[in-house]
Amino acid sequence: MPTLRSLKARQVLDSRGRPTVEVDAFASNGARGTAIVPSGASTGRHEALELRDADPAHYGGLGVSKAVANIHSTIAPALLDMDLDDQRAVDAALIALDGTPNKGRLGANALLGVSLAVAHASAASRGEELFLHLNRLWKARAKGLGDAVPQEPTLPLPMVNMISGGLHAGRNLDIQDVLFIPIGAESYSQALETIVAMYRAVGQVLAKLGMESTLVGDEGGYGPRLSGDEQALEIVVEAMNLCGLTPGEQGAIALDVASTHFFDESSRTYRFSATGSRPLDAGAMIELLARWTERYPIVSIEDGLAEDDWEGWKALTDRLGSKVQLIGDDLFVTQTARLGRGIENGAGNAVLIKVNQVGTLSETLDALETARRSGFRPIVSARSGETEDATIADLAVGTAAGQIKIGSVARSERLAKYNRLLRIEEALGRDARFAGRATLP
Ligand code: PGA
Ligand code: ZN
Repeated sequence: MPTLRSLKARQVLDSRGRPTVEVDAFASNGARGTAIVPSGASTGRHEALELRDADPAHYGGLGVSKAVANIHSTIAPALLDMDLDDQRAVDAALIALDGTPNKGRLGANALLGVSLAVAHASAASRGEELFLHLNRLWKARAKGLGDAVPQEPTLPLPMVNMISGGLHAGRNLDIQDVLFIPIGAESYSQALETIVAMYRAVGQVLAKLGMESTLVGDEGGYGPRLSGDEQALEIVVEAMNLCGLTPGEQGAIALDVASTHFFDESSRTYRFSATGSRPLDAGAMIELLARWTERYPIVSIEDGLAEDDWEGWKALTDRLGSKVQLIGDDLFVTQTARLGRGIENGAGNAVLIKVNQVGTLSETLDALETARRSGFRPIVSARSGETEDATIADLAVGTAAGQIKIGSVARSERLAKYNRLLRIEEALGRDARFAGRATLP
């Protein structure tokens, strides 16, 4: 049984040049596991707390040296000699050490770095691929969930940023992301090739509109200044046609509205400021989204309403939930308590899974298990601030989540995950399972 010999943490930089936590976990047999923590920009209010130094003399206050110090001074001594294979016990110890509901004492970034590094070290100590190790953890959980819940390692169907706005691209648009889903693909590698073709086609459509110098957003999507959100949808449809993909048959659109970030608390209205339209209440927002789903091949909408608008979410789900995937990101923040409330009240029908929203691997598996038990679709997701760490690729495969959201096929912190999935596909060989369009409504 490999045990934890030591932890070594350090501050490294993410894809926005902001400090984040990296952790090495060393096993008793000399094996090492390393993980780096991601970081969001359009974060939900209910996410676990990312501990930052707030010391303006360093990195504009964004340093994470306190989180690193907490790992060395508090976490390492407490976890020493623990069984590396017992992820649940390790995570329970982390949660108990922190002792706060939002992991604000030691920092969710400190906890998550350790939690994921331990999983890597456990797999490495047996020379096992991480996705297989995670699959074992998942199978132990998914036992008893019934045949409808997939348990074998499965390559996910990606949803991919094409055009970005909101907090990810300088508020050029109100909605945060217009994504493409290669629903006609029969394998992961085929899906990836289609995605790359689409990304280039969107670039061509933008160039035709005189926007060839468009910069890319934080997740690699194009960030053009358009006349309105709907123009972004039209551009993606046009790109599908350019690629010879029949919209709705071989290609579909997903939206991440990220509406929490233009929701005005006091008037309880959604304010489309970038494109200058009037404030909309929840009912009018739902009508707008319904109209878009009629006009465009939209199969998935994330955060169509704000993070605490439970009533609106229920109405949205009543209206569109039978045909459209409605993903709670800021709404559920990967936390079983909030997800349970959504399941009970019929708010949403899918959940974004972001490891750092909750702060440990075991709690992430809890959210996946809760989702699966209730027929909610999970979508494993990166953050807008990412690194070369590709753990989420293994997580999506190992838990047979069905879908993954990484960002665009530009910028190496995104490609690290897409490329990892290619290697996993190769490792699984001829009988590699691929979730494909069956994972969508
Ligand atoms: P974030 O964005 O990582 O900045 O929160 C991703 C998302 O909203 O899905
Ligand atoms: Zn989101």
